[in-house]
Amino acid sequence: MEATLITDLTYVEAPAAPVVSLPSLPPTVVQSGLKRSLLTGLFQLAEARLLWRFLRTPARVGEAIRYVEELKREYYGDLKPRKVARVAGRSYREYYEPGRPSAAYDAYVATTVNRAVPFRGDADTLNLVFLAITKKCPLACEHCFEWDALNQKEVLSRADIQDLVARFQARHVTQIFFSGGEPMLRVNDLVAVVEAARPGTDFWVITSGFNFTRENAGRLKRAGFTGVTISLDHHEPARHNAFRGSAQAYQNAVQAVAFAHEAGLVVNLSLCATAEFTTGTNLWAYAELARQLGVTFIQLLEPRAVGHYAGQAVDLSPAQLALLEDFYLKMNFASDYFSWPIVHYYGYHQRRMGCAGAADRFLYVDTDGDMHACPFCQKKSGSALCRTADDGFDAALASLKTRGCHPFSQAAL
Ligand code: SF4
Repeated sequence: MEATLITDLTYVEAPAAPVVSLPSLPPTVVQSGLKRSLLTGLFQLAEARLLWRFLRTPARVGEAIRYVEELKREYYGDLKPRKVARVAGRSYREYYEPGRPSAAYDAYVATTVNRAVPFRGDADTLNLVFLAITKKCPLACEHCFEWDALNQKEVLSRADIQDLVARFQARHVTQIFFSGGEPMLRVNDLVAVVEAARPGTDFWVITSGFNFTRENAGRLKRAGFTGVTISLDHHEPARHNAFRGSAQAYQNAVQAVAFAHEAGLVVNLSLCATAEFTTGTNLWAYAELARQLGVTFIQLLEPRAVGHYAGQAVDLSPAQLALLEDFYLKMNFASDYFSWPIVHYYGYHQRRMGCAGAADRFLYVDTDGDMHACPFCQKKSGSALCRTADDGFDAALASLKTRGCHPFSQAAL
């Protein structure tokens, strides 16, 4: 069914950002070894309690524990993640894992356990959804994967977004990341949608920092948002601004970090590590900056030849991929860096385990409400919009699972 065109949306304009000097913000990653051990112990206790609550017999609990151990071995090999961050009363270990304690964390463990030892009468496996809510954006980023859709007529209404959230919450999705375009242009809708959502899902917004004022950070937090992913693609202001096509981009991003911190939102800095950027010097300068800003996570993205990059040779060299992997391993697993931000590097695990997108653990919904394997592997696989009672959503999800579109998706997870 054809989606309705929405023409009467009003966007929230960003006021001119004041000039900021680089703030030095308190760390969110736990600095003390004792506290880290205590919080890790609390995660283990919570998991044991949940396993018992879900499965009720020692045999089934044992089966689930073996499955989870095997999963961790596949994902981390011999590495043992030890870093923990604390934000607003919750503990975080991974960007794609809800913080604990929370209903979202319990639901996340439930979905993992249900894969191994089914107990709740469904086969839902989705953990997270990227939901692009607007085609509007004032920037012109080099790597933008939504480039072809940008600044076209809007399709999704607030009611559509609300329905999409409810639909994915009914499928036990425990993290929803609102993207765009620039989702902060629809901050009123973000607030209304999350206020109306039920507990059990962590909500994040992925932003360039545009319109991320102190007031808006507070509104997001009060509405129930957990965190914000802020794009920062270089530690040098001029290079970040050139990459983003905006003279205000660096200032907006850094200021957004400070406001999010103040509001009690978890902060993830997202870095598109281009071939030009990827040197050891740049990576460690970036890490220093992230540490100074007190962020919880750094996300490393590899450039892909889609959207604005379509047709360009943007792949990193094997030596650069090795540099990124070395950076990831040192930052997360070397004791010298236990108090630095936690690095999320999906590409590292994707190369070893295969892809978790294509509706296996995550999927992408674009600004028309159509589903894709992931934000970078775009091939429309049916609509997620609730336009009719029997609108083929389940069939589209099932088809997405079998199709995927990236060679990594052939490997089993
Ligand atoms: S990457 Fe994001 S911020 Fe940049 S142009 Fe695209 S939608 Fe806008």
